[in-house]
Amino acid sequence: MSHRPYIVGNWKMNGSRAMLAEARAIDRAAARHPHVQIALAPPFPLIGLLREAVSGIGVGGQDCHTEAKGAHTGDVSAAMLADIGADFVILGHSERRKDHGESDALVRAKADAALAAGLGVIVCVGETLDERDAGRAEAVVSGQIDGSIPLGEAAAEAVALGKVAVAYEPVWAIGTGRVAAVEDVVAMHAAIRARLTEAYGEAGAKVRILYGGSVNAGNAADLLAAEGVGGALVGGASLTADAFLPIVAAA
Ligand code: PGA
Repeated sequence: MSHRPYIVGNWKMNGSRAMLAEARAIDRAAARHPHVQIALAPPFPLIGLLREAVSGIGVGGQDCHTEAKGAHTGDVSAAMLADIGADFVILGHSERRKDHGESDALVRAKADAALAAGLGVIVCVGETLDERDAGRAEAVVSGQIDGSIPLGEAAAEAVALGKVAVAYEPVWAIGTGRVAAVEDVVAMHAAIRARLTEAYGEAGAKVRILYGGSVNAGNAADLLAAEGVGGALVGGASLTADAFLPIVAAA
């Protein structure tokens, strides 16, 4: 695939104005890695500040509402993210699926809204340990792909432009230090690719499939070299430049 590897830091509910210094350090180093597309997704209050602090990396949100505006206390729309300078939004992360009961259909509606607002999307999927142990990992993830990738009016164009990405994040590998075996990652990415081709035809090849779950400086090179892995979605190891930059360098 011709795309640059895509390394995205998901700060989750972590960060402060002081931590913008880490983002600046990552941004400065980005110039040394022009073949890698780098982005950070901080919590909502930091998005605008981070946007102003960096110039060579992407900035994204971690969620958005399905509607552009209105009576939805506490929610943030894709249009607002775009307005404040975000480039993309992470959707359907397992922590949102679990903590907020987000269904595949809701994730799809959010993804469609995000694309309509001009944002890129990273749609997250992944099985639990019980599902993997029951031999259902591929079926679960394929079902999540079929149910939550964008299919609205803006989808075909966004896919062709490379603005749609998928992150395969086994739930049991997130924040646990327990990384998936490379052969399992390769098999799952192939299964996801098949679903994307089914949904988007040939253009499905333009959707990058990232791996996420305990990616760090020690395992990044093997994971990123694996067949079908187009990048990484990094949680804990994205919070400092020292932890994140070796992952970028491994890409
Ligand atoms: P982790 O998180 O790198 O801390 O495991 C990854 C993610 O949830 O995106």
